[in-house]
Amino acid sequence: MKNMDNIKEAMYYDIIETDKVHCYLCPHNCIIKPGMLGACRARKNIGGRLYSLNYGKVTSVALDPIEKKPLYRFYPGSLILSAGTFGCNLKCSFCQNWTIAHEEADTRDITPSWLVEQAELLKDRGNIGIAYTYNEPSIWYEFVYETAGLAKKKGLANVLVTNGFISKQPLRELLPFIDAMNIDVKSYTNEFYKNICKANLENVKETVETAAGACHVEVTTLVIPGLNDSTEEIGEIARWLASISPEIPLHLSRFFPNYKMQDRPPTPKDTLYRARDEARKYLKHVYLGNIW
Ligand code: SF4
Repeated sequence: MKNMDNIKEAMYYDIIETDKVHCYLCPHNCIIKPGMLGACRARKNIGGRLYSLNYGKVTSVALDPIEKKPLYRFYPGSLILSAGTFGCNLKCSFCQNWTIAHEEADTRDITPSWLVEQAELLKDRGNIGIAYTYNEPSIWYEFVYETAGLAKKKGLANVLVTNGFISKQPLRELLPFIDAMNIDVKSYTNEFYKNICKANLENVKETVETAAGACHVEVTTLVIPGLNDSTEEIGEIARWLASISPEIPLHLSRFFPNYKMQDRPPTPKDTLYRARDEARKYLKHVYLGNIW
């Protein structure tokens, strides 16, 4: 068991029966018995209470170009201090960050005030704030919430790079601190979300719609041959985004075989060009990623 000094009691859970807990941070709504982990591997029932195991634990901290998030229309040309931990609440077989999302990764301990201090020190090198990224930040909620609150008071921007699979209440309570988000919309079919990611499309759509009313939002779709690469499906994503706002940037990213999805080639460039042409019928800003 981890040292109790290094872990934090979780937000958004109820104690049910005598020692089981119900976590409602994300739509999985895990019921967790004592000694067991949630589906994200980042929250554990210890003695009938739920704890965040990744609070203050980072796998990576780096000063990245904002375009790497990707955010192309939020302080272009700037840098952002980027931090991530371990765990994920989705199970995408094509995961591009599987070593930190689904494996045991080395971590080091930091505090919210340390991260904010580093972000401030880096301002004169062009840093605009903190990006919570690399793995899924919504399951790092307690650390992100505290850090984002401190950062906001110092005039720093907060950015989330997320799969959007978070419950409404925690999302609404975090949004006042968040300046920009890049949200993955991995497909426009629930079948894809259910079979390949063990999640569902509706919750992700709700996150995009709620976030777009509160902060700057850009969306990323990884275009995977044979799974979500039809012109029709890309058109559906673009049409739906345009119904929220045609100004929402869409990043269509090239797939490369990774993790458990090794059975298909990288996305042909022609597929991406066709997808971009289709999306541009509805949206003003469509970009291709990982193409060069
Ligand atoms: S955050 Fe983790 S423990 Fe909580 S409901 Fe989601 S997957 Fe389950």
